[in-house]
Amino acid sequence: MAQLQKPEFVYMGGALRRWEEAVLHVGCEGVNRSLNVFEGIKGYWQPNGQFGILQLKRHYGRLCQSARLLQIPFDHSFDQYSDAIFELMGALLKSDWDMWARTTLFAIDGHWGEGTVSDLVVTAYHQDKQVPPPICIGTSTWQRSSDISLPARIKTGTNYQVARLARMEGRARGCQEMVLLNQWGRVAEATGACVLMVRDGIVYSPPPTEGALESITLDITEALARSLNIPFVRRPIDRTELLVADEIGICGTLAELTLVRSVDGQPLAEKGPVLGALQRRYFEAIRGIVPHSYIELTIVPSRSKASVQNPFGKNKSANRRS
Ligand code: PMP
Repeated sequence: MAQLQKPEFVYMGGALRRWEEAVLHVGCEGVNRSLNVFEGIKGYWQPNGQFGILQLKRHYGRLCQSARLLQIPFDHSFDQYSDAIFELMGALLKSDWDMWARTTLFAIDGHWGEGTVSDLVVTAYHQDKQVPPPICIGTSTWQRSSDISLPARIKTGTNYQVARLARMEGRARGCQEMVLLNQWGRVAEATGACVLMVRDGIVYSPPPTEGALESITLDITEALARSLNIPFVRRPIDRTELLVADEIGICGTLAELTLVRSVDGQPLAEKGPVLGALQRRYFEAIRGIVPHSYIELTIVPSRSKASVQNPFGKNKSANRRS
């Protein structure tokens, strides 16, 4: 059974606190209407021993955009946002593990949009350093909601209700990921990643107007493809194209660049030449082995190591910053 790791610390209310103490009140909109927006960010150990967080400014920008679309106030500057992440990662980092962190703005006060107050909560989890193995995917009977119902552009937990149902459906069919179709029956995205399709040497991915998140990893993939002289086109993708594609992959901060070995039970080339080359370049670049000018790694400052010894030394009181 899948189990969520329970790291020792969580960043909440402007300070580190123990996992068991990081709780939200049942009366707040963050709980009773699932009012939150979030970002999943990933950090990788670099060859020089530093720990770098991938495209952090882009994640901050998208968090601000999601908050704005749901009218959740968020007044942290980029530096305040980064400091919160540095504080938690600094306390949890282990040299053998990369990390994935979730930075969430929960609505902790307010009612139906009046007097909304948010709190930045950061949770971080250890991740192994393996390149993900190829996966089986399927097409879900659940549908991506439209831009006028629950916009895919808003990265809010609520959007993942359908994703959860699709994953449960997928598990019953032996799939590790599922593709959600949009209201026109075309490919929107996977439950936690964007879809990449290769036909005749060209990489295709649906644009956000088809119901995909404005993906940061997809932009990296496009930049890497351009430097490898691999044509990359954003255009709608029909469902049947997935079944006749030469190669399929998914990409996202957590999925990284994962190759697909079957769609709805139909096998595909596991190590397709195009996505295989892109996957190799992706891991070289994010691990700083062969850097790429598009990729920005924000280094977790070593001063954060001070908090490893005494994570509660800096701010013992649970100071709520809203
Ligand atoms: N779509 C969905 C639904 C996702 O959850 C993710 C992961 N954040 C993505 C696409 C990929 O986005 P990104 O590359 O910015 O992580």
